[in-house]
Amino acid sequence: MTQIVEPSFRESVDLMFNRAVALMDLPPGLEEKIRVCNATYTVRFGVRLRGQIQTFTGYRSVHSEHMEPVKGGIRFALGVNQDEVEALAALMTYKCALVEAPFGGSKGGLRIDPRQYEEHELERITRRFAYELAKRDLIHPSQNVPAPDMGTGEREMAWIADQYARMNTTDINAKACVTGKPLNAGGISGRVEATGRGVQYALQEFFRDPEGMKKANMTGSLDGKRVIVQGLGNVGYHAAKFLSEENGALITGIIERDGALFSSDGLDVEAVHQWIIKHGGITGFPDANHTAEGSAVLEEDCDILIPAALEGVINLSNAANIKAPLIIEAANGPVTAGGDEILRERGTVIIPDMYANAGGVTVSYFEWVKNLSHIRFGRMQRRQEEARHQLVIDELSRLDEHMGDAWSMTPQFKDKYLRGAGELELVRSGLDDTMRIAYQSMRDVWHERDDAHDLRTAAYLVSIGKVAASYRAKGL
Ligand code: GLU
Repeated sequence: MTQIVEPSFRESVDLMFNRAVALMDLPPGLEEKIRVCNATYTVRFGVRLRGQIQTFTGYRSVHSEHMEPVKGGIRFALGVNQDEVEALAALMTYKCALVEAPFGGSKGGLRIDPRQYEEHELERITRRFAYELAKRDLIHPSQNVPAPDMGTGEREMAWIADQYARMNTTDINAKACVTGKPLNAGGISGRVEATGRGVQYALQEFFRDPEGMKKANMTGSLDGKRVIVQGLGNVGYHAAKFLSEENGALITGIIERDGALFSSDGLDVEAVHQWIIKHGGITGFPDANHTAEGSAVLEEDCDILIPAALEGVINLSNAANIKAPLIIEAANGPVTAGGDEILRERGTVIIPDMYANAGGVTVSYFEWVKNLSHIRFGRMQRRQEEARHQLVIDELSRLDEHMGDAWSMTPQFKDKYLRGAGELELVRSGLDDTMRIAYQSMRDVWHERDDAHDLRTAAYLVSIGKVAASYRAKGL
């Protein structure tokens, strides 16, 4: 009997790429050029900690340099390996192309369990890793710009930025060497929540596509939809929070490391988040049912499933049991190529990772532009915009007086209309616009091409087309 073997993460990405590229008419050789990872740098370095030298292994993989700098996060996790980093770097290439962020794809990782180290130890390790990468231009404002990923956040990005600045004391653009920095270290408003916000905007746009909803057998709006989220880290938490607080969705399940919580009435995401911060897990959370068998909850009945944790969680072993008609991949690579095939055959609609979680890199792009322009978005226009709006309000006020009881301006209108857009409003507007346009580009291919049966294939077709066009323009 032949046993079907699950491909590795990188093989999964390649298989999905191959499926799409077979539908394209690319010049010979270009297909291979786009698929392969250009280079992966492996570094082993020692840091003296707790009286002895500890050796760490890190990677930075550059998938495609059709545009530079290349872009992608740095992950701190014990499972980090070359195959994973290369798969993630490839996804960055396609992701950036799809949302028109002008970058090639890259990704980095350090094999470490960050929870085992004190803050000052982590700082030394991060700075040393950053030094190793920066001295080879694998951290550089115009060559390679990292960002947060699993196990890293604003704090690590601030250390990396500072390390680069110390090594390049006269580089006026030093801050643009990394994104996802804290606001007081050159970051941008709205970057922390950006990936989760992007998931929300992606779903909103999906619900504006009647044909897409029909394919997923869905009706109505996000209001009241039952959502199961796997992973309440930065992405899962923000996505679940915004969907429940702003769109009226019911978060009926939350899966975490130590099991899952479920409640048909909907969970209070903020309360669960606070509980995790305080207790280190979901166990013991009141007002909900708890099961230690977390992954079984992936197979529970719901309208939308949001895998927002690790890669490969929906695979050959459980794909056939997934009941959700709609999956949105907030994580990178949560569905394996084998799992994807099973779900496609069953008609499950999957909003693919390269689109669904592109909110992070989109706002990273805005941060990078902010750093290069050395000015906060909205600083020049905001008050001028308010002054012009004041003129309209003054005229309307005159009319208000003149009309007596017959008409009056609503107070909310005045307040809302008067306020000029600050950086956060502009970031949200830019992110929403990006997510809408990228969805529409996939949607058109999905609905109009007979051979693009699913959104992932459509997403690959759009993004590979863009990468190919840019290689052609370069004369390769
Ligand atoms: N690590 C995030 C991702 O996988 C963000 C990358 C970035 O902002 O460059 O998309």
